[in-house]
Amino acid sequence: MSKADAKNIDWKNLSFAYMDLPYRFKALYKDGEWQDGEMTEDSTINMNEAATVLHYGQADFEGMKAYRTKDGSIQLFRPDQNAHRMHNSCERLLMPPYPEDKFVEAVKKVVKANADFVPPYGTGGSLYIRPLMIGLGPTIGVHPSDEYLFTVFAMPVGNYFKGGLTPTNFVTSEYDRAAHMGTGQSKVGGNYAASLLPGDNAHKNGFSDVLYLDPLTHKKIEEVGSANFFGITKDNRFITPDSPSILPSITKYSLLWLAEHRLNLKAEQSDVYIDDLDKFKEAGACGTAAVISPIGGIQHGDDFHVFYSETEVGPLTKKLYDLLTGIQFGDVEAPEGWIQKVE
Ligand SMILES: *Cc1c(COP(=O)(O)O)cnc(C)c1O
Repeated sequence: MSKADAKNIDWKNLSFAYMDLPYRFKALYKDGEWQDGEMTEDSTINMNEAATVLHYGQADFEGMKAYRTKDGSIQLFRPDQNAHRMHNSCERLLMPPYPEDKFVEAVKKVVKANADFVPPYGTGGSLYIRPLMIGLGPTIGVHPSDEYLFTVFAMPVGNYFKGGLTPTNFVTSEYDRAAHMGTGQSKVGGNYAASLLPGDNAHKNGFSDVLYLDPLTHKKIEEVGSANFFGITKDNRFITPDSPSILPSITKYSLLWLAEHRLNLKAEQSDVYIDDLDKFKEAGACGTAAVISPIGGIQHGDDFHVFYSETEVGPLTKKLYDLLTGIQFGDVEAPEGWIQKVE
């Protein structure tokens, strides 16, 4: 695969796809400690056939973005939160956390080195950053590796919604993404492997993704395969589910704060019953990739529930989207500590 060349990129028509950029950061853990990492042009990973990542799924990752502002500078949105979440994911899989300050440093190095690939302001594009950690040590018994790789790579991605925010429909599933006290709170590859089959079934039936229900009772909404769920009630409460098997979305926590402090809604995390959707006037899925995907309707068994509209985004969902993307691209004043400049 040849290296990407920024001169050949059509910034307005970027999709969400891998691109082999010139530089990435790599650091190894061995002899009980993290070694000094380095920037490298090598986008391949060489490993032993018995590496724990291949057999026992010792792998976690993050997803975040760098944004080009109007004045041409580049900034990150809450990178400390990604660093902290990866620390938690590592603890769950018995992997040695990469120091959080060094995580943010590594991300900034990768963005700086590939700065030509941060899409221009106004195109809606951004640089998607993928930190990843995997167990490298050869281990055939079931126990954690003693060697790991931490790497950070990136690629430019386009605005998820080319022609404005458009609602899509979601469907519940008999499958679970994660067990009640499993790895649902951790951003690990295994959860995604488990979601591929139900996701494929949903796509084949014309839905954009699965809306998972809680693994214990299948009565409460959990989240979409790679995004958290939120709803706005008819009495103006912003509600998002609370569960030990949901991945704690940084977008979700940011929206909870913005709903309360900038839109004067009541914001809370509480149970959302799949048979009690009538109280919501709007709903959406939120995560770094799409920011907010408005939910048109939800198919649950024979019932199809429509929220605001199947074709138009609701006004409060739109306001939240504009606020959050405005902050990310530097057009709206950010709450303290949310933005870090890449020098
Ligand atoms: C990454 C992820 C999200 C979204 O989290 P953000 O921090 O908002 O990007 C939601 N659900 C799952 C399962 C995820 O892996």
